[in-house]
Amino acid sequence: MSKSIIEQLFILLSRNVVDIAASYIISHHFLPLLLYYSNSSCAGVFNMMSGKKKKEVNLYAQYVAPTDTQRHRIGSYNGMPSIVSKECTGTGIHIGIDGGKVCDACMILRKERGTSNPGTQLNRWYTSISRCIERRQKDVLTSTDLNDARKFGATNVCYLTPAGIQLREEATAQVEYGSHMKTLGSRLPNKTYKTVGEDSAPGMLALFSDAVKLCEENPEFQSSIIVGLLKAAVARQKFGGNAKLDETTVNFFRFLATHDKRTASVVSANLFGPSERWMRKLNGRDRYDCVLDGEDGKEDKVLARIEEAVERRSKNGGKKVSFSMAIDATKVPSVIEISSSHKAIVGAEYPNHMISIDGKTKDEIDSILEGKDSAYGKLSAASEVKVTVVSFQGSPPGIPQSEIVAARPQSNNDSNDFIKDMERAGCNVARSTETSFTNFTVDGVSCERQACDGSYL
Ligand SMILES: [Zn+2]
Repeated sequence: MSKSIIEQLFILLSRNVVDIAASYIISHHFLPLLLYYSNSSCAGVFNMMSGKKKKEVNLYAQYVAPTDTQRHRIGSYNGMPSIVSKECTGTGIHIGIDGGKVCDACMILRKERGTSNPGTQLNRWYTSISRCIERRQKDVLTSTDLNDARKFGATNVCYLTPAGIQLREEATAQVEYGSHMKTLGSRLPNKTYKTVGEDSAPGMLALFSDAVKLCEENPEFQSSIIVGLLKAAVARQKFGGNAKLDETTVNFFRFLATHDKRTASVVSANLFGPSERWMRKLNGRDRYDCVLDGEDGKEDKVLARIEEAVERRSKNGGKKVSFSMAIDATKVPSVIEISSSHKAIVGAEYPNHMISIDGKTKDEIDSILEGKDSAYGKLSAASEVKVTVVSFQGSPPGIPQSEIVAARPQSNNDSNDFIKDMERAGCNVARSTETSFTNFTVDGVSCERQACDGSYL
């Protein structure tokens, strides 16, 4: 059965198609590979295909423009950048060190010693360029980073490609940012204690965008001391040294100051907290009279407090002021410590509950604390505090109904004269100010009952 002419023609045509396809594949895919392995193009002094300077060639070719005086230029090997001699013939005839074949000129330049060897240039530029690229990702620019940026910013543009010039502009911007941060830093009152390098600059934008996210997702973070500190720092920058700071922040610095004033001022200087002068002012402002009854003239102190309390309620439309008194004890942690605002050792049992340290040396204070001082002996910490509250009838608007007028630290249910002292003070006030001392309340602890029994008569 013979095939029709059309069928035969079709077979011929399809064979032809296969042939055309095969020759296309050979010429476009295998030929370059054959050329690469067999001979031909010079692999250059260094190239991006192989060898130990692949990375260096890559960055160098992107950002650096070799000058007229240099003996090399940017070439191409296998479609990728290479460094070739200006006398490169383009044809490789010797086996290259990094593989492939190289021309005479490229081989000679590769073996050159000193700065005319392109390898020296590659190394030098690679370091500074890769640092420029790394700096983009950094959260904190250290003084070394800023120095590097300053150096790169001073590069003559004739050595750079357009991409290199862009990199140089970035570096200049980094230096400007750094010097801006330095100006801020120099506003700190106490530069001596700065722990971060003078020129270092944090990557602020990254930090703040993270903080915004945290604040949105975490309400606890919003009310944290760290946010308070930041607010304080911002307030100080905007409104100066005496800017109003929120209470938590001020308390934080005051708490530090109770441990060590020097530390507090260093921390505050570095965190833009309140200045030392401002802290002193704040401390002075609320150095209220201590409510503990003093070791001498205690009755007078309590008396004076009750009198002041009566005075505050005297503008009540001519009505007679009436008050009552109540005493109860509350448990306290047994701690003996120094109160810097009252300049006293507090926390021991009455009558050593408030030992003045005004004018005493550190050794003298230590000796008292260690129980070696003959005047005080071994201090024992109080476990409770007896508190006296005076309550008033008809306090004017804005004045509280009651006030604490005395507190005495002691051990559990110590029998003492506290109740009698308080009662006497109340009676004296009532007599001298024509007020009514209506009643006196204690709970049923035996020592207090005994005291009450005595006063019925
Ligand atoms: Zn060459």
